Parts: sequence; C-alpha cells; structure tokens
Amino acid sequence: MHDRTKTLFIETVGCQMNVLDSELVVGSLRRQGYELVHEPTAADVILFTTCSVREHAEEKTYSALGRLAPHKKANPDTVIGVLGCMAQKDQEEVRRRAPHVDMVVGTGQLARVPELVAEVQRTRVPQYALSLGRSDGGKQSVTASFESFDPPRDASMRPTPFQAFVRIQIGCDKFCTYCVVPTTRGPEQSRHPDHLLAECRQLANEGCKEVTLIGQTVNSYAFDHGDGRRTRLSDLISRIHDIESIERIKFVTNFPKDMTNDLLDAVRELPKAVKYLHVPVQSGCDEVLKRMKRQYSIDSYREMLYRCRERVPGVAISSDFIVGFCGESEESFGKTMDLVREAKFKNSFIFKYSTRPGTKADDLYPDDIPEEVKKRRNNDLLQVQNANCLEDHKSRIGHTVEVLVEGPSKVGERQPPGLRQMIGRTMTDHIVVFDGHDRLVGRTLSARVKEASPFTLFGDVETGEIAGGGLVAREAEPVRRVGLPLV
Ligand code: SAM
Ligand code: SF4
Repeated sequence: MHDRTKTLFIETVGCQMNVLDSELVVGSLRRQGYELVHEPTAADVILFTTCSVREHAEEKTYSALGRLAPHKKANPDTVIGVLGCMAQKDQEEVRRRAPHVDMVVGTGQLARVPELVAEVQRTRVPQYALSLGRSDGGKQSVTASFESFDPPRDASMRPTPFQAFVRIQIGCDKFCTYCVVPTTRGPEQSRHPDHLLAECRQLANEGCKEVTLIGQTVNSYAFDHGDGRRTRLSDLISRIHDIESIERIKFVTNFPKDMTNDLLDAVRELPKAVKYLHVPVQSGCDEVLKRMKRQYSIDSYREMLYRCRERVPGVAISSDFIVGFCGESEESFGKTMDLVREAKFKNSFIFKYSTRPGTKADDLYPDDIPEEVKKRRNNDLLQVQNANCLEDHKSRIGHTVEVLVEGPSKVGERQPPGLRQMIGRTMTDHIVVFDGHDRLVGRTLSARVKEASPFTLFGDVETGEIAGGGLVAREAEPVRRVGLPLV
C-alpha cells in the first residue's frame, strides 16, 4: 500500500537534461507514494538536481544546502539528497561542505533514488551511488556504469502535458577543454531507436504535441544495430514524424562539426521538424577555439552556417559563447564580436568563463582574464546580439506565424477577467506574446505579428469567431503540409 502522506521537494539547477532528470526522479518517487510539495521544509525528502558547468551553479546549491542545516538538525528524519552532476564530480566535497546530506547520487545512478531514499530512512546511514570516473576503468566498464535513466514518463510532472523532452543520447566524448560534462555525464551513448519511438508514442498518447530530443551533441546521435544497420538522427526524426499526433520535433544541442547534410535535408523536408538549430560556436577566434579543443575553425563554422541556410531556407540558428576564456585577447574578442555581427544568430547564450577544476583548461591555462573584463565583454557581445534580435524581430512584423501556445506570459492576468497575455513559439522558435485565454494552451494557432522587441514578438491571434463571450482562435493549418511556415 502506498503511504499518501510522504512528501517530496526537488530543486533543479542547470540544463534541459537536469529538468528531465528531475521529472523522472519525481515520477519514480510518486510511484512510491510521494506527493510533490513546494516548500523544502514541508518535505520528508528534499532533493537537489545539480549543475557543475559553472562555479556559480555549484555555489547556488551549496548555499541552499547550508540554509537547510538547521532544519535537518531539528528534523533528523528528513532525507536530503544531492543528485546529478555535482554528486558525480565532487562527492567528497559535498560530504565535506554539507555533512548533513544523506544521499549523493550521480547522473548515471538515478534509477536507484527510490531504493536509496528507503535505505536512508531504514538505516539512517548516508548512501552514495556513483558511476566510475572516466579514467577509473576500461571504456566498457566506465560506459556500463553510466546507466541511461529512462523510467516510464509521468505527464503530470511536466510544466505542460503537450511538451516533453526525450533524451536520445547521454554523455559526451568531445572533451572541450573548459567543460565538465564528459566527467559528470560519462561516455557518449545513443539510446535504441525502438525505445525512443515507444517513448514518443506513449507521450503522444498522453496528449504530447511537441517533443524536444536532447543530447549534449545531439546531431552525433547514431545507433549501431550490430548487423550493419545504423540509425542516424535524421532517420530517427523521420520515424518520430510518422506518429500522428506529434506536431513538432525539435532537437538540441548540435555540435558544429557533426552537422550533416542528411540531417539538414530531413529538417527541410519534414514539416514537423522545427526550423531551428542551436549550434554553439563558443568563440569567433581560431586560436581560442584551438585552446578550447572545439575541433573546427571559424571558416568551417561559417561554411556550416551557409550550408544550414542554403539547405533549410528560413532556418533560425542560435549559439552559445564563452567570453574571457584563458588568453582571450582584445583582438580575439573582437573576432567574436565580428562573427556575431555577421552571423545573425536568432539569439545567443553568453557565459563568462568559469574555470572548472578537473578540466584540461584548468590544468593547462591560467584563468587570466579579470572578472571586470569578462563582464564588459559579456555586455558588449549581448548588445550586438540584441541589436540583431531586434532587426530580425522587426522584419517579422506584419507576418502571420504559426504559434504553439505554451502558457500564460509572466505579465499575468489582464482585464477583462479570463483574458490573459499568453506566450507561444513559432516553428523557428521565436517567442510570441498575445492576448488569449488559458484554454488555448497546447493549441497551434495563427497570430499576426504587430510589434517587436529584442526579446519578443507581439501578435494578435487571428480570430475565427466570438463564442459565448470568449475569444475563439482560428487554429493554424495542420502542420503536416510541406514547406516552411510563414515566419
Ligand atoms: N554540448 C553543448 C555544446 O557543446 O555546445 C553545450 C553543453 S554546456 C552544458 C552549455 C554551455 O555552457 C556551453 O555551450 C558553453 O557555452 C557553456 N559552458 C560550458 N563550460 C563552461 C565554463 N567552464 N565556463 C563558462 N561557460 C561554460
Ligand atoms: Fe561540453 Fe564540449 Fe561536450 Fe558540449 S561538446 S558537453 S561543451 S565537452
């Protein structure tokens, strides 16, 4: 029998992988009778899904853990667990800095969370479950120690039931010199396409309309069947495309060198494939890219951008940048500014370099760019990017776009009651805000863009009729038609 009174709180820091890990961990504990609560102090089990990509993310978790120390002292039966990247990378440090933590569970061991929670409750002895370090054994044993965590999905755990992440690949083998991910998430492994298809079908049966396929270098997805057959990302997308009620298929994050023509052709030809590619370049300077060990030059990145735009007309492309990487001179940074001016990314995520113990860059190169310089470069790059965003957004004014409605925008309730500012996304991943209604959530509809800011398009829903005093949106054409949406 389930004990309905057991409560669970989870805090998630970091990327989409972590959001998905939390969703799955919560789902597996709910099956043991746990209910999610929104205050850590109201929970029997308090979990943190952690991120190690930048120091700031780790400090955020340590602060939250520190704040919980008095609560744990007063309530010794509460179970506190640290899950994910920080757990895998820094188990000793977690034990030292937060001795009141009861569970430390790495990214490759999350399936064990329910069992470990029960063990802590039974024995009051701290539990640790970690995969092997990258140099702690042969490739096979290290790989086997990172298990892909893919339990049955629980629609109620997602922000909306009609959008879902699907992990198609775990780990990373690129070893960019600044990055902890190959350590925290282990060797690259692609999941079996049949399992992914089954997961997407289940999601579709539960009302999911948009799947986002996730992997650290998602476009290097390849599953070898062992009989000479190989399933590539393009093959996988076309199989998912056959699932009737899935309307949109996205995938993130792409590695520039692995952007193959078969994938671009699939994005162009398959109407449900979102015309949006996130392909981080990190820097506009060859010398910096070399020190980062990114495996491409700016010329080859430019060639890739050209190929993406030639093969997928109208495609939107976004990037990540690290500013203030070791040895980044003003001249190197100037080249990054030039690239952003020229490349016209839809948007860019810009990060100040954060040296990460255990990475090659931390061993080899001094973190020699002062914090104020990193900040200034971050702001300068952001300004150029924002100007590009505004130009791009303004060029869309007057166009009709197809929007999948995600939910109310942060602006919240407006007059008259019931009519709200809603937010949705186009097939090129542009955000559109418009006056609508909660019941439009999950619907795909047409909106006419009337205004633009650097961050948002503002639109009017193209209405079909007014029924019962409410706004009835005219739904967009079915997305199965061939060709690009008008954006
Ligand atoms: N796999 C993806 C790729 O190669 O583009 C990115 C994964 S990483 C979790 C997300 C972003 O964090 C990277 O693209 C990079 O810009 C940034 N990042 C990674 N390590 C960093 C570091 N040490 N300091 C600052 N930013 C970092
Ligand atoms: Fe990190 Fe590079 Fe792998 Fe991306 S490709 S996860 S930046 S090592």
